[in-house]
Amino acid sequence: MASLADKQKEQLIKAALEGKEFSYSPYSKFRVGAALLASDGTIIKGANIENASYGGTICAERTAIVKSVSEGQRSFAALAVVTDVKSAISPCGLCRQVIREFCAQDMPILLVPADYPQASGKPEDAMNRSGGVKQTSIGELLPDSFGPEHLDLPRVPT
Ligand SMILES: [Zn+2]
Repeated sequence: MASLADKQKEQLIKAALEGKEFSYSPYSKFRVGAALLASDGTIIKGANIENASYGGTICAERTAIVKSVSEGQRSFAALAVVTDVKSAISPCGLCRQVIREFCAQDMPILLVPADYPQASGKPEDAMNRSGGVKQTSIGELLPDSFGPEHLDLPRVPT
């Protein structure tokens, strides 16, 4: 998995926590914040934005990605996601596919518990050595995925 400096991790997690403050989630009451680290060092924040039609809802992860891509930034080094839940919550299926479109298979994805960095537990638990943060990647979250490169494959003549 690609590495991420501790300082970058901290900055990204802080940005995800800040992003969560702007969550618009009157229906689910499930606030989510996300922060994307672009390859040029820029951090782009996102929050879940719900809608009375429900189907118009967009998740924090996709908010951050769409904000970035629509401003011309398509190269990313890491993503952090935080909720108000005390455990690391993973991106939904839709977000996984959108992350797959723009992020490398091994790009670090940090799933951050709401009580970061206070999360503690048994010292032998690796997750708890990092404030309860679970580090994963889209390759792990969405194995055998479909991506843009598959559209370039030659078609069998019919
Ligand atoms: Zn989602």
